[in-house]
Amino acid sequence: MSDAETLFERIIAGELPSDVVYQDETTFAFRDINPQARVHVLVVPRKRYRNVAELAAADPQLLADVIATAAKVAELEGISGTGYRVVFNTDQDAGQTVFHVHAHVLGGEQLGLFGR
Ligand code: C5P
Repeated sequence: MSDAETLFERIIAGELPSDVVYQDETTFAFRDINPQARVHVLVVPRKRYRNVAELAAADPQLLADVIATAAKVAELEGISGTGYRVVFNTDQDAGQTVFHVHAHVLGGEQLGLFGR
């Protein structure tokens, strides 16, 4: 397993520092080190799957937990009323760099449109 694959497991385990926003039995949420919006939090299932497709196929309840935590993060960050975006970058063309599935929760400002 490469460093990139184990990175979030080490963050979840507390072996690497992170700015934790929320955690529960199945999920872990922390601020992105390179924020792309005023609020940019990553939500990661404690159990590792490569991407959202593998997670959805193997454990739909855990995917639901990740989405519920994203909504919880939005509440905690005070952006549930103004709106936010939840993004799963999936493999090469989407620029996924860490192959431990994670939802990006983005908001706190008017976001740009999707695309290139
Ligand atoms: O979706 P993708 O795999 O590209 O997202 C990985 C994210 O993990 C990036 O937004 C990056 O800034 C973030 N990251 C982090 N802390 C690290 C390494 C990467 O927040 N130590």
